[in-house]
Amino acid sequence: MTSSVLDRFLRYVQFDTRSDDSSTTVPSTASQLVFQNALAAELRALGLRDAAVDGHGYVMATIPATTQKTNVPAIGFIAHVDTSPEMSGAGVTPIVHASYDGRDIVLPDDPTAILRLADTPALAGQVGHDIVTASGTTLLGADDKAGVAEIVTAAEYLIAHPEVPHGVVRIAFTPDEEIGRGANHFDVARFGCACAYTLDGGSRGELEAESFSADLMTVTFHGFNTHPGYARGRMLNAIKIAAAFVDRLPGQLSPEATTGREGFVHPYVQQSGVDRTTVTLIVRDFDTAGLAAKEALVEGLAREAAAAFAGSRVEIAVTEQYRNMRAVLDRHPDVVEHAREAIRRCGLEVVEKSIRGGTDGSRLSFMGLPTPNLFAGEHNFHSRLEWVSRQDMQKAVDVIVALCQVWEERCKIGWHSEDL
Ligand SMILES: [Zn+2]
Repeated sequence: MTSSVLDRFLRYVQFDTRSDDSSTTVPSTASQLVFQNALAAELRALGLRDAAVDGHGYVMATIPATTQKTNVPAIGFIAHVDTSPEMSGAGVTPIVHASYDGRDIVLPDDPTAILRLADTPALAGQVGHDIVTASGTTLLGADDKAGVAEIVTAAEYLIAHPEVPHGVVRIAFTPDEEIGRGANHFDVARFGCACAYTLDGGSRGELEAESFSADLMTVTFHGFNTHPGYARGRMLNAIKIAAAFVDRLPGQLSPEATTGREGFVHPYVQQSGVDRTTVTLIVRDFDTAGLAAKEALVEGLAREAAAAFAGSRVEIAVTEQYRNMRAVLDRHPDVVEHAREAIRRCGLEVVEKSIRGGTDGSRLSFMGLPTPNLFAGEHNFHSRLEWVSRQDMQKAVDVIVALCQVWEERCKIGWHSEDL
């Protein structure tokens, strides 16, 4: 008995798989393991006999090759099972709005939660499609259970159609992507693929082969605390030094003022005390050189602020978070070119976008697994207005199947995976 991508998706979103960045366990929440175990069992029932959950909560599984060629590289498909900690993912009640007619969709559990065509340009292309939303009080979890449902449905199709030629296809479902830990325990060697694709993107046809490069900056101002009644001429208030620093940050470099290919500088946490105040900032740019320039600017402004308060001192630390995957993908042009071809074969226009953030693929690419991101049909991530359409999910299934075929067809005789 086969199951449609929609049936699967409706089943998956009912698992509460919220990740938790305050947790130190792996994965961060035990509830993700409940879903992972169910997925591994479902894959085994479909005939992917090696499907299993590893000690870090990752599911991996294999679709054996059907091609006669001996040198088709193994490729992988990856989705994450967790949902954002920013919004409840417990008790999700998915609602299918069949044959969307362009009118407002009012979510029943909170009538102020309304999906409007006027606020949501992507809905314009969905008239006549079946839109899935949550009920108004939780996120939906299309990010990234749409990707999971698409990969499982494609696996089911490939197993049922051995006449479709393809090489070895590997599947991985990762925990804790939303808290930036999805690649931490990903065993690239065991996955054994020449490249992979995450299914974690938006509108149909989208292909993302570029992400931000990202660093974290910690700027600590040291002042001097003393009893405020006897502080004249002695106290140095680190809170005021930090305020002078934040005030100097150029407004045009903030997230709220930037878009497209512009990077930004974003102070987002401050721990304040008179003696010592720490400002934590994230710095983002598509070019690593641009990232360094922004960091030099931030450092200069921090030193300038401290210099205005005689006797104070500033410490600055920079931690690398991830790098633009394009640097890796440019060395493996087939990985992106084959994806373009698969999208076109499914009758879609290829829409290449730059991710104004990172994905598991940003880190996996630098861990030796070139991994661009494909559309999964997700919209309004991390929101109670999250939605996905059945037709987009089915298109993503078709693209996965087509991509497996493109890799097989384009495989040159005498081609070895080392050449990739
Ligand atoms: Zn996601």
